[in-house]
Amino acid sequence: MTESLVAEAVDQQFLETHDPVTGAVLGRWPIDDEAAVADAVARARTAAPHWAGLGAKDRKAALRRWAKYLIANIDEFCALIHGENGKPLDDAFLEVITAVEHLEWAAGNAGKLLAPQRVFPGLMMANHEAVIEHRPLGVVGVIGPWNYPVYTPNGSIAYALAAGNTVIFKPSEFTAGVGRWYVEAFAAANPELPEGILSVLTGYGATGAALVTSGVDKIAFTGSTATGARIMAAAAPTLTPVLLECGGKDAAIVAEDADVAAAADGIVWNAMANAGQTCVGTERCYVVASVLDEFLAEVRKIVSTLEPGSDEAAAYGPMTMPAQIDVVAAHIDDALERGATAVFGGRDSVRAPFVSPVVLLDAPEDSLAVREETFGPTLTVRAVADVAEAITLTNASRYGLASSVYSRKRGMEIARQLRAGATSVNTPAAYAAIPALPFGGVGESGIGRIHGAQGLREFTRTHSIARQRFAINSVALQSFARTASTMRLIRRVTAMRYRTGS
Ligand code: NAD
Repeated sequence: MTESLVAEAVDQQFLETHDPVTGAVLGRWPIDDEAAVADAVARARTAAPHWAGLGAKDRKAALRRWAKYLIANIDEFCALIHGENGKPLDDAFLEVITAVEHLEWAAGNAGKLLAPQRVFPGLMMANHEAVIEHRPLGVVGVIGPWNYPVYTPNGSIAYALAAGNTVIFKPSEFTAGVGRWYVEAFAAANPELPEGILSVLTGYGATGAALVTSGVDKIAFTGSTATGARIMAAAAPTLTPVLLECGGKDAAIVAEDADVAAAADGIVWNAMANAGQTCVGTERCYVVASVLDEFLAEVRKIVSTLEPGSDEAAAYGPMTMPAQIDVVAAHIDDALERGATAVFGGRDSVRAPFVSPVVLLDAPEDSLAVREETFGPTLTVRAVADVAEAITLTNASRYGLASSVYSRKRGMEIARQLRAGATSVNTPAAYAAIPALPFGGVGESGIGRIHGAQGLREFTRTHSIARQRFAINSVALQSFARTASTMRLIRRVTAMRYRTGS
């Protein structure tokens, strides 16, 4: 029996995960306290030299065995995701295979992208070899949300492991079983590896808070902006670095030259899929006035076919977190009270635990539904005079996670003017499924990047090494043996180099 299990037995403290539709208890998980966190960190520290010492090639093999195990057991995994989160099985399947694509990419590219890089030392230091090396940080703590309980934490975990770190994962209390299964799959796929390379802690916010101050070498957090700010403050006294993937209020722009039917299809999907509980979900939409009527007609056509539920025919599932239902209702109420028109659905669409699609026209720009993260299957639509106005309104948010643009000819030009970490052009959220593209926000959407080369480097410390290849004693600059004649020479060379005469 591990120490953590002994602690469980003594304290009899457990959290339960539930089916969000029926309320049935799906699992009981320990509430790991500070001592359990310290224990996990100690085990991860012990395992760190072994994992780092394996080298990129053997780590790649271990991560690929894990990827294979996840795919071989995908139906069992998806059933668990469907149970705790509520999303349809097909959506769970797509989430897992997208996560595994990232895992494969991180495993396959870490060796090359984190290899030592020789750089030109410059004229002044020409007798030196200059090398940039990327070393693992050590132990990384990952704290995750419930909305994409595999894909989002995997964006930190896979990349941190591939970069040679050991990892401790604290999943959301709503999806503790999913988090535990995912971590146990790593050990099941790699029985020969020592314990502590990837481990899991379960609990509420207090367990996450204990991980932040446990002495880990970095915290990678995905969740709300409010929690992200608390984590950053708690990490500040020890200068523990933080990577924060937080909330968003993503906008879509529909230009006058858009394929309007395709725009409606992409925007509705990105707004309503996963019951709108998507950090990069489209929550507001700016449509050039000349195509507004056509756009609304297409949107109505699509949303009228969408039914939330928990059966196979459901377009999307329930709201996972009961408290979020009140937030969604408050945003709809506020928008309607302040003059918005419900062009589809309305207040009656909220029938806990399900919320049917809601499309609101002309909600004021300072209303909750336009300003705050709703995290439900709602979409605000506003007509704009032109693309320039759409860009201004899109950028007038304290968030800046992602965005989408629909335009046949001007997509890239519009995208480049948006203040966001990612933009998809004529497609809903393609950047999220392309492992080579870094992912993360600006403003209150977060700090740092997961995925891609940048996502690997987030979990390394850069080590610069300058080695003197041969001594030039007559021009020793970094020495008290430096002579006046050396300085005269240096002054002459400087004048020649910058053409300042004398
Ligand atoms: P949350 O902030 O409530 O919780 C996230 C995690 O933090 C949970 O594991 C929770 O137990 C833990 N936690 C809570 N308080 C803590 C504390 N003081 N210290 C340390 N850990 C603590 O978020 P949530 O409701 O689980 O997730 C939804 C939010 O996540 C939305 O805002 C969404 O936009 C965001 N999100 C962002 C991304 C992204 O990549 N940017 C991806 C998915 C979700």
